[in-house]
Amino acid sequence: MIVIRLRDSYVVLSQAGHVYVVDPSIPACSCPAFVIEGKECKHIKAVRIKLAEGGIIEDEEEALRVLKSAFIGEQ
Ligand SMILES: [Zn+2]
Repeated sequence: MIVIRLRDSYVVLSQAGHVYVVDPSIPACSCPAFVIEGKECKHIKAVRIKLAEGGIIEDEEEALRVLKSAFIGEQ
C-alpha cells in the first residue's frame, strides 16, 4: 500500500486501486470496513506501520507522480 501525507491526514492507495483517507490519531478511515463496520482496518494499520518504519510520501511532486501513474498510467 502506498501512503501519502496530506497535512494532518494520510491518503492510502490500496493494492486494489482504491483511495482512502486515513486519520490515524482518531483513528478513522474512509473505507467501507471502517465506515460501515467500525473496524480498525488495514489502511489505518498501514499508516501506523509506515509512521513507525518510514516510507510515507511527503513530497508533493512525488505524490503527484505516484497518483498519476496509478490512475492515468503515466510514468
Ligand atoms: Zn480503511
